Amino acid sequence: MKRFIILGSTGSIGTSSLDVIQSNSDHFLAAGLSASTSVEKMCEQIRVYKPEAVSMNDIEAARKVKENVGSLTRVYEGFDGMIEMIRDLDADAVVNGLVGSVGVLPTITALENGKDVLLANKETMVMAGRLVIEAAHRNGRRIVPIDSEMSAIYQCLKGEDAKALKKLILTASGGPFVDYSHEKLRNVTVQQALNHPTWSMGVKNTVDSSTMMNKGLEVIEARWLFDVPGSCIDVAIHRDSVVHSLVEFIDGSLIAQLSKPDMRLAIQYAMTNPERLPSPYGGIDFSVPFSLTFEPPDTERFPCLALAYEALEQEGTAPAALNGANERAVEAFVDGGITFMEIPETIRRVVENHRFIQEPAIEELIDTDTEVKRTMSVLVES
Ligand code: MG
Repeated sequence: MKRFIILGSTGSIGTSSLDVIQSNSDHFLAAGLSASTSVEKMCEQIRVYKPEAVSMNDIEAARKVKENVGSLTRVYEGFDGMIEMIRDLDADAVVNGLVGSVGVLPTITALENGKDVLLANKETMVMAGRLVIEAAHRNGRRIVPIDSEMSAIYQCLKGEDAKALKKLILTASGGPFVDYSHEKLRNVTVQQALNHPTWSMGVKNTVDSSTMMNKGLEVIEARWLFDVPGSCIDVAIHRDSVVHSLVEFIDGSLIAQLSKPDMRLAIQYAMTNPERLPSPYGGIDFSVPFSLTFEPPDTERFPCLALAYEALEQEGTAPAALNGANERAVEAFVDGGITFMEIPETIRRVVENHRFIQEPAIEELIDTDTEVKRTMSVLVES
């Protein structure tokens, strides 16, 4: 039996991970779960999956869960409780389905406590990619990506020599506004941004996908996960969301990974890797005609993608600043504080003016995150 701790268990990655565990209950079990405030959903998950421990980030929510569950499940409280649970609990791997910069410390804690990390929280790698990879190497642990693009590249690189690698090509659906003019983008509403054409995800990822910051964050994530410089990572708009990414080799050959757009496939692969197990999610039907299209991205209309490449080029605290500023900008957009096109504008200003450090320690990266979020809040309210 492989034992997993699921962080963000009531969110979209978390519930999909639990689905995969349920369909493979001969092989997998959920030893621990963590959520933020969803008391009812957590109590239901405790009934179904019978974890040994859970943690609730919100203290009040933790108390309510405690009142509702028997003594068989230990309940940890707060962010520190989640860290403690990761340390205490016997598990093979931690599924990090948290959203935002809050995912960094849990990732590092898992690696340092002998657990692999199945990573959906791309902000971990954007903020602290170099340090996280070092922590994995130091502790002999693996980081296996869950994000569909990263999983695709991971699969394409299996058994290949790193020296033969020329380029990574990340595919992007383009989001709901891929055909919008500059003018039209100025008037995008929150509701429109939350309608993703092919993937169903949480609010943060859906907005990131509509600005294409999601792809920018993935470019930075790929740089660290696969040890490839930004200049060797391209993005291709692929509206069909069937090809999840490609790898080009020095001889001009390309290898791609294709599947239906269902995140449970990538989650299951991360859980079973290097093996594969049958899945109930189905393959692609070649008995009916279909075509696949690819187009270059437009960084003029979607400046977030260009901002990410710039931050990657600068390195140091720049990617962490980009990430923190983006998190706050997305919240401000959803709350009606800024417009859609003000997302990249405000991020650019905040990243340019943050206190830059070339070789930051983890504490300095967390400080950068706090600093840029504070600056962003002031900017948004003025
Ligand atoms: Mg993705």
